[in-house]
Amino acid sequence: MELTDHSRIAVIGGGPAGAFSAYFLLDFAGRIGLQDVAVDIYEHKEFACVGAKGCNHCGGLVSETMLQNLSMEGIVVPSSVIMNSIDSYRPHTQEGDVLIQLPLAQMRIATVYRGGGPQVYDNVGDPPKTSFDDYLLTLACSRGAELIPERVTKLSWQEHRPQVETKNGTIKTYDLLVGAVGVNGGGLRLLEELGFGYVPPKITKAYVGEFFIGREQVNQYIQSAMNVFLLDIPGLKFAALIPKGGYVTLCMQGEIEEALISRFLSHPVVRKCFPPEWKPPRKMCHCSPKCNIGEPRHYFTDRVVLVGDCGVSRLYKDGIGAAYLTARACAATAVFYGISAKDFRKHYLPTCNRLKHDNQLGHFVFDMIALPKKVGFLRTAIRSMAIREQTLHNTKRPMSTFLWNTFTGSATYSRIIFEAAHPRFILRFIWELLKGVLHR
Ligand SMILES: Cc1cc2nc3c(=O)[nH]c(=O)nc-3n(C[C@H](O)[C@H](O)[C@H](O)COP(=O)(O)OP(=O)(O)OC[C@H]3O[C@@H](n4cnc5c(N)ncnc54)[C@H](O)[C@@H]3O)c2cc1C
Repeated sequence: MELTDHSRIAVIGGGPAGAFSAYFLLDFAGRIGLQDVAVDIYEHKEFACVGAKGCNHCGGLVSETMLQNLSMEGIVVPSSVIMNSIDSYRPHTQEGDVLIQLPLAQMRIATVYRGGGPQVYDNVGDPPKTSFDDYLLTLACSRGAELIPERVTKLSWQEHRPQVETKNGTIKTYDLLVGAVGVNGGGLRLLEELGFGYVPPKITKAYVGEFFIGREQVNQYIQSAMNVFLLDIPGLKFAALIPKGGYVTLCMQGEIEEALISRFLSHPVVRKCFPPEWKPPRKMCHCSPKCNIGEPRHYFTDRVVLVGDCGVSRLYKDGIGAAYLTARACAATAVFYGISAKDFRKHYLPTCNRLKHDNQLGHFVFDMIALPKKVGFLRTAIRSMAIREQTLHNTKRPMSTFLWNTFTGSATYSRIIFEAAHPRFILRFIWELLKGVLHR
């Protein structure tokens, strides 16, 4: 079961996973001389639009690993897409904060909007930039993919081939179907109804809020830093404030409900990140999207394969990076090896398994990070170790690197644990702990 000249492929969903799948399918097919392979991308959202209509609800951090991977593919994300370049981060604890410059000058991450920008209320807001998802989709179309701007309403089989039906009644049969529907919206149900045994990943609810405070205030209060919060607020797992032009994006994970969001925003440590007179606006662009936090089951069969969030992703971070990795591996398998379940098991599954095993370590890393939220002397030791590292001229800053990699998705969880297990890291941390205890 292989792709041949004139094969037809449907990609359902035009987010990063769908756009990358289409791009690499056409790129790889061209490399081995397959003629006239047609790739249709089904996507009903208009990524150039502001607000929910164009948005794929996300913090919008693109890790440096991801940016490097793309540039190795010859894809350079243009400055018109990048809202801010992050060159530092600031962990906040009850005891205070510390601005940590990145361990290496070349380590930078970009912030982007997935759609045309936040919904602007009362004419307050910045002009939107080019959206990241729009850029990727245009890139895939420039390779020859066709965008079908419609919602898929039904998936079925026609003589053992996948069939796609859209809202306006168009029905087409394909040789291969790539599911890239993410976890928000009704796409997961369509894949389940296809009846090949797919069980969607475990999901949790998150929160994204866009606060407009103006560029000057962003430069003064947030700077070009990712602000992360190690605060002991019941129900809060993780929170970050990310600068984007004149906006600050708040991303939260935890038991998301209105009370938690207002508890967080009224916390004195968080208040310090905003101008003193600032109040959360009554009307603002915000959402509670779902987030993949567990592995799906049976995510490929003959002629069908799932990528990105509806397949295997990365725990709590770098979902765009995972979409890239799975889409590329899926395209390489389909073009170079074949499109049967056996081919996907042999050549696609290993990439997903690497992500899956790394996520298991990710749970451990996040449990470790949760401890200092509750234990004051651990927080103090982390903070003083990070502060000390800022005064050193060498590039070996283990605590700074540990925190950066944990929160940005720039390294795998296994690398984070490997580096944290280094005797120098452990001894230094014990020393800082002892200093703290003696000081008390
Ligand atoms: C709060 C939050 C913050 C996050 N922050 C970050 C971050 O900072 N950095 C990062 O790398 N990742 C982040 N992520 C994860 C990231 O958003 C996802 O991993 C990434 O979007 C996955 O890409 P995808 O293409 O698989 O899915 P999506 O981006 O969800 O795209 C799926 C697409 O499929 C389309 N679709 C669905 N059903 C249909 C249908 N029936 N017909 C046609 N089209 C359909 C949708 O319209 C959508 O465009 C965050 C996630 C959350 C929830």
